[in-house]
Amino acid sequence: MVVGALLLLALVFALLVMRALGERIEHAPLIASMEPRAPTLIRDVRVFTGRELAPRDAQDVLLRDGRIAALGPTGTVEAGDATVIEGRGFTLLPGLVNAHVHVMAPGGVPWRPVAPSPEHNLEAWLAAGVTTVYDLGGPPPWLSDLARRVEEGELPGPRVIHGGYPMTAPESHPLPAGRALAPWPLSMFISATVYTIHDEEDARRAVASVDDGRLPYVKVIVDELPEGSPRLSPALLAEIVAEAHRRELKAFVHVGGPGDARAAAEAGADVIAHMIHRGTLDDETVRLLADARTPVIATLHGFAATAELAEGTYDPSELARRLHDPALVDPVTGAAGQAFAELPVLGEFAQTLLRERERWGENLRRLHAAGVPILVGTDAPLPGVLPGAAMHEELQALHEVGIPSAELLQAATWSAARLLDDAPEFGAVEVGMRADLLLVEGDPIADLTALTRIQGLWRDGRRVQLAATP
Ligand SMILES: [Zn+2]
Repeated sequence: MVVGALLLLALVFALLVMRALGERIEHAPLIASMEPRAPTLIRDVRVFTGRELAPRDAQDVLLRDGRIAALGPTGTVEAGDATVIEGRGFTLLPGLVNAHVHVMAPGGVPWRPVAPSPEHNLEAWLAAGVTTVYDLGGPPPWLSDLARRVEEGELPGPRVIHGGYPMTAPESHPLPAGRALAPWPLSMFISATVYTIHDEEDARRAVASVDDGRLPYVKVIVDELPEGSPRLSPALLAEIVAEAHRRELKAFVHVGGPGDARAAAEAGADVIAHMIHRGTLDDETVRLLADARTPVIATLHGFAATAELAEGTYDPSELARRLHDPALVDPVTGAAGQAFAELPVLGEFAQTLLRERERWGENLRRLHAAGVPILVGTDAPLPGVLPGAAMHEELQALHEVGIPSAELLQAATWSAARLLDDAPEFGAVEVGMRADLLLVEGDPIADLTALTRIQGLWRDGRRVQLAATP
């Protein structure tokens, strides 16, 4: 009798969790196949190496055993047994690197929850030319498993690099916002997805646990969302960063306002995981970040999209519609998205973003002018911030702020590849590098939208065949 009641209870709970996970979408496949590695010569192509801002015209590039085996002016590289691809009129560049994603996040909204589909997220990034992603907060065991399956060619997707669960103060961001976005009863378990840092002992233990998992970086959150909620103190932030550095781990720090950015800069953060999106940067913080050459991942499109949801003006790109199911796109499009403004915590946040957005360009231009590297990341998936498509919208948004396209292409390739290692094996078209390559029609330096006209795509030397999508 007792067993029966327990079983019934377990069943009811399982049903609740299933419902909470949201609608399961039958995603159309975006990748038809990942071909085995084969010697390939791309002939007479314009090359953007990633290291250099100026492209090289009329180059031959030979791929062999998953690497770039030769690169030189057209006619100087022997084809041998390689398949030849004519590259005239095309540009070859390193596969894109998205510096801020959440592979396991579902990307739906509370008024139409969808079940997470990390496999679909991975396909969408790859189909958009992204060959590496940095996950900035997700469950390490699942992410390690996905990363391995991608690496072994079992799953089509970009290389997945990830850190541990985010570290944050008790009841600080992302807990209130996460509860507002996640349906009950999932919302009850949000606090199990972060390291809660009360004191220095917690800080050391959390960093040790990331290190024990052999993960390369910690993610720390210093933000006040909603306004007036607790945030990690500068002293504890400094302790986490110092402990990470003692263990040779990098520290990625999420910031909100200028004070958070100042604390991150003073603590010696290696990467700032959002631009300052509330308030104005002070000169001292700009100088600290510039002196340390600390990169800032802007996630500008993500903030803009959130503001547009509340305004009822969010308009998904053609690429977003092509890569994602209407169940993800329609509930946030136009007036339908305005329900976001009614959500607890997030509605108020979106209103703040609406007021603040005119300052973002100036904040970014000041960082850029001071020599702070601006990196390209999206925080996808979030409502209106859809994997793959958001990468191109972010590039466009940063270009509109005034950052030259060649610099953005370098930021989205070589600079992002170097976040953890000064001599990475990917992120550049150079002899010896892993063959993560994007071949596009036209010249993305003249027109960034050329990046979406994909003619060829390789990850680790395996050619990616895209599925025909409507
Ligand atoms: Zn994030």
